[in-house]
Amino acid sequence: MIDLESMARALRLSFHNDHGLLVLEEAFVVPGSTCTIMINNNFSRVISKNSENLKRIIQLQVEPSLIHSRIYLPVNQACRLFTIWLDREVVYNYSTGMINAWLSGKRFGESVGLIGVVKHEEQLSVQGNFKPAEDSSTVITGIEIEKRANGAIISFSASGNPTQFSLLKPDAEGYVYLSFEKASCDINTLSTIYSGGVVKAITPKQLADGGLQFAVALDNKSFAITSVEFHRDEKNNRYVLYVRSNADVQEIRKKEKEQQIAKVISRDVEKWKLNTIVLDAGHGGKDPGAIGFNGTHEKDVALNIVHDLGTFITQKWPDVNVVYTRKDDRFIPLHERGRIANQSGGKLFISVHCNASPNRNARGSEVYILGPHKSKAALDVAMFENSVIRQEADFQEQYKGFSEEHLIMSSMAQNAFAKQSTALAQDILKPVERQAVNNARGVRQAGFMVLWTPSMASVLVEVGYLSNAEEERMLRDRQVQSKIAYGIFQGVQSYRKNYETSCMASLAE
Ligand SMILES: [Zn+2]
Repeated sequence: MIDLESMARALRLSFHNDHGLLVLEEAFVVPGSTCTIMINNNFSRVISKNSENLKRIIQLQVEPSLIHSRIYLPVNQACRLFTIWLDREVVYNYSTGMINAWLSGKRFGESVGLIGVVKHEEQLSVQGNFKPAEDSSTVITGIEIEKRANGAIISFSASGNPTQFSLLKPDAEGYVYLSFEKASCDINTLSTIYSGGVVKAITPKQLADGGLQFAVALDNKSFAITSVEFHRDEKNNRYVLYVRSNADVQEIRKKEKEQQIAKVISRDVEKWKLNTIVLDAGHGGKDPGAIGFNGTHEKDVALNIVHDLGTFITQKWPDVNVVYTRKDDRFIPLHERGRIANQSGGKLFISVHCNASPNRNARGSEVYILGPHKSKAALDVAMFENSVIRQEADFQEQYKGFSEEHLIMSSMAQNAFAKQSTALAQDILKPVERQAVNNARGVRQAGFMVLWTPSMASVLVEVGYLSNAEEERMLRDRQVQSKIAYGIFQGVQSYRKNYETSCMASLAE
């Protein structure tokens, strides 16, 4: 036998008992219905709450009986009644003595139902040898919470006779309701808010019918609550709630997020890392470039410097991939150089050249970036370096976009790298200048076709004038070439340092 009021409370129904007439009401359903049960009458009536129309009659196999002013039904009959009326499964399990009920959703397996458990403290029998506990015989005297890595154990210590109790498993908000049939407690003392664990708060409430309900608020946002079990510790007169949760979800989420960020950063670092440097020795093959007073070929000086520069980079930074547009004396079209650079995923493009001028006194090194020229001299250098395209078979087709107006456009396209290119040029200029050979003449910009294609920070270094007899003598010196290469390397080194620092800083933001 089960008392229908306890069951109604567990199923979150409201009810009122009027001397053998029990009216149960769907409290949270709109419009909902009421179900009226009378003692000694095996017909219960279901009435629609808004229209008061009789919806149906549920016939009970047994007449409800009144025991100590409560209405009782055999447990299987009670389950059947609630199942039919509420249209959701309420099932009694004979072996465990528990009732499982879907609190929302309609049937087993349909939507995510919440499971309510009503457990009998004592075995009731139809014969009527059941003696309900005396009124207020149970006093909940204290609550203890024991935090565990995987949950918490909440013990309600009690004095007096045992009482019936029921447990509603966590709802969507994480509330667990523990109800005692006839019990009391010091409401103020036992109302507690906890912090830093799966249990947030415990709030007792004295119910009008003499029952006592504890609302246990669980933190189901931070913790994945896997089970809530109830245990009656008869020996110590305690009611024990076991809350099990998986590890701290927030902590796990935080770690996941950190890992994600680390992954993104490492991917970005990979993307921005100066891990590939493209070295371009000017001219080559049939194109000797400038020819010095004493017959020195620009293409040879450039190749030696590039070779040494590549060696410095590889020695110092084994992790950096050095790509050469040419490693020997061969002709490579200008557009092809940019294509090689782009294909290799280069992050820097350094083109090495020697200058020449009708003015035999002209001397010094210059570092160029792509852009509209600002002086006739810069234009002349670019014109000379570009002139090689006439030796290329289909130059008109290949460079048709390259005009003065287009240059402005394409230098704007290169704008993403303009700042970096300028910084690189400045960094290179300083140490190159220090190599006493040269009288550095500054960072300039002009329309170098070779700088047109590469999608990366790109500079063109004019290491000195082959048209100047003294500079030519020095530039053909293998040691001087090596020193110049080292000067460029120092520039790249300081550029790399600043570049990676600022990239990391911007990624950290
Ligand atoms: Zn050149």
